[in-house]
Amino acid sequence: MSRIVILGAAESGVGAAVLAQKEGFDVFVTDMGKIKPHYQAMLDEHHIPWEEGQHTEAKILNADEIIKSPGIPDTAPMIRKIKDAGIPIISEIEFAGRYTHSKMICITGSNGKTTTTSLIFHIFKKAGYDVGLAGNIGHSLALQVAEDPHEYYVIELSSFQLDNMYDFRANIAVLLNITPDHLDRYDNCMQNYTDSKMRILQNQTKDDAFVFWNDDPIIKGELEKYHIESRMCPFSIIEKEGMIGYIADGEYHIERPTPFNMEQESLALTGKHNMYNSLAAGITADLSGISNDVIRESLSDFEGVEHRLEFTCKVHGVTFINDSKATNVDACWYALESMTQPTILILGGLDKGNDYNQIKELVAKKCKGLVFLGVDNRKLHEFFDPMGIPTAETHSMKDCIAACYKMASPGDTVLLSPCCASFDLFKNMEDRGEQFKSLARAL
Ligand code: ADP
Repeated sequence: MSRIVILGAAESGVGAAVLAQKEGFDVFVTDMGKIKPHYQAMLDEHHIPWEEGQHTEAKILNADEIIKSPGIPDTAPMIRKIKDAGIPIISEIEFAGRYTHSKMICITGSNGKTTTTSLIFHIFKKAGYDVGLAGNIGHSLALQVAEDPHEYYVIELSSFQLDNMYDFRANIAVLLNITPDHLDRYDNCMQNYTDSKMRILQNQTKDDAFVFWNDDPIIKGELEKYHIESRMCPFSIIEKEGMIGYIADGEYHIERPTPFNMEQESLALTGKHNMYNSLAAGITADLSGISNDVIRESLSDFEGVEHRLEFTCKVHGVTFINDSKATNVDACWYALESMTQPTILILGGLDKGNDYNQIKELVAKKCKGLVFLGVDNRKLHEFFDPMGIPTAETHSMKDCIAACYKMASPGDTVLLSPCCASFDLFKNMEDRGEQFKSLARAL
């Protein structure tokens, strides 16, 4: 019997363990941290042996194959040992893909994955398709394949998942954009990160489709290097030759396979970045044979995703918007770009090597105040103080909201779009967004 060892026992790892067990492997699960009680219960229920708080080498290095959680970096000592021992390492998605013939719709990009994945899922659901949501959101793909199979899967793929995918094939691959992110995991080398994103194309055949943002300079440069067999479906927010989807004269258009159009104003998601997301989702639905009526209705009634440009409340004429998920500079750029009122921008947290030059012009144009929220705000002061915009220094969400409110006048917007990870002051970006929302609503 082949032995599979799973590193990391959260949603993807436990799902992979259940599928591996079902497929007859000798399975062992190991996690350096604590395993959440409900995952422990699931493993016990399936009689799958596990350990937490340690990695017992003897029980790992005898594996035929390792399934690694995307959260574990290649530099982790155990991963190095596994590599030295020559044991193949795959991701949960790669593993699950071996045991299903369902249609795989995979979404990647530096920003917009969750929004676009959720929107595609919403359209497919409304169309009555048998569809599962997987990858970074929803339930583990492997678990669904094992216990709740669907005809279609809409899968959000991070670069970390793609890194350990080899034979997996996306029937529809959606590539939204490539901008610097997570470079700490890629030897600070943008090409390494780009190569990882481009893996979404591997194994596609002429029967598959590749939906991508045509105006992304990095994607365009990459496409010249690849021989792509799949059907190319580029989109842009301007009408150009060869585009499958575009926006022209206030109308949203899809050219093929079934021509579709609707008023841009009726799209539920606003902001330029969401035009791209809506185009990618509409094209994917159109390619999958979903009717124009369903696409139109879904694109106009989608409620958006929490912590992404989420309208929170209006207090004495001041609008509060929670974009806690903006953990890189590019995401913040798009948030600022969509602001229509004088803005007080909350920035700060754990900086992943940010270059704030990208937002400098928009900050100058749109921001009347900047509130820094982090343990260490020195880099923000160094960059933004010379711009002469009023700033405030805070170290808790409570002080931050108070500082924003003090700076704001009726008609202004307070935008949490911090460009940084949240772990210095918060449990995660959800915690940061929740605190922002509850304190703003309590004003
Ligand atoms: P991801 O799952 O890739 O992190 P999300 O949909 O969660 O993407 O959005 C993350 C952040 O990026 C949010 O702040 C959002 O406003 C912004 N964003 C969403 N779509 C795009 C896009 N197509 N291009 C740039 N930024 C985007």
